[in-house]
Amino acid sequence: MTIERPCPLCHEVVSSTLFADARLDSERLGEFAYASRKLPEYMHLRLMLCRQCDLVYASPVPDRSELAVAYEAAAYDSQVEAEYAAKTYASRVRALVPQLPDRDGALDIGAGDGAFCGELMKLGFTNVIGLEPSAAPIAVAKPDVRECLRQQMFDASQFPAERFSLVTCFQTIEHVSDPAELCRDAVQLLKPGGALCLVAHNRRGLSCRILGRNSPIFDIEHLQLFSPQSLRQLLSQVGLKKIVVRPLYNCYPLAYWTRLFPFPATVKRTISRGLETTGLGKIPIMIPAGNLIAWGLR
Ligand SMILES: [Zn+2]
Repeated sequence: MTIERPCPLCHEVVSSTLFADARLDSERLGEFAYASRKLPEYMHLRLMLCRQCDLVYASPVPDRSELAVAYEAAAYDSQVEAEYAAKTYASRVRALVPQLPDRDGALDIGAGDGAFCGELMKLGFTNVIGLEPSAAPIAVAKPDVRECLRQQMFDASQFPAERFSLVTCFQTIEHVSDPAELCRDAVQLLKPGGALCLVAHNRRGLSCRILGRNSPIFDIEHLQLFSPQSLRQLLSQVGLKKIVVRPLYNCYPLAYWTRLFPFPATVKRTISRGLETTGLGKIPIMIPAGNLIAWGLR
């Protein structure tokens, strides 16, 4: 079942126009459609643009129970990339740590295999919890982070108010049906002075400018796509202060960038094979791929 919805930031439709019709191919909708860092499928739901919020959002969208089922069963094959991403995020979060009230209590929403939970512990955080709806990444989590991980969607009612100094939500805010609700709930869990930190794709970033709708960010599982303006608005409308929104340079192995780029499939296979046999695919490359990191303090 799918549900029509207004702009998930201003909750209105008056400023919304059609951005792109749906591009779907039901035969290719496999178990990897809802996996993280998969091969791009170049499919997306019908997309609307709210000019007031500068937000692209999908409507209609699958209902929450359908999304929960899809994510629970999603496949996972991106542990190496998760490791790289977690290190990139940690290098930026480190600058935020001195502003926090303490390092007791950190919650990572959409934790995957717990790679970032491991980085939080390295940064000195205690009582680290990672929430991940999919079973597959938890099954391959490293032993030192496995006990941090809980297989569930975010539900603020399961935690005491003002429990955490830091709540993080990386590459996940696009996937939830109500991003404002998630942020509002997360803020309730923050100690005064604690931070909510997000990483999201930037629809006004380099990869979108070059690739247009062939950018991998136009994806069936992305229910909204942010820009610097809309991400700032999201944090501001849930009452956060001292908001920072910055581009994030991602460092991944060359083989991963090749997988993301819209080469024709045969070309992609040839390049990938070459990179694998020569070992060149493992070279880490830093690219401003069009991600944003943003945070605000309670
Ligand atoms: Zn709006």
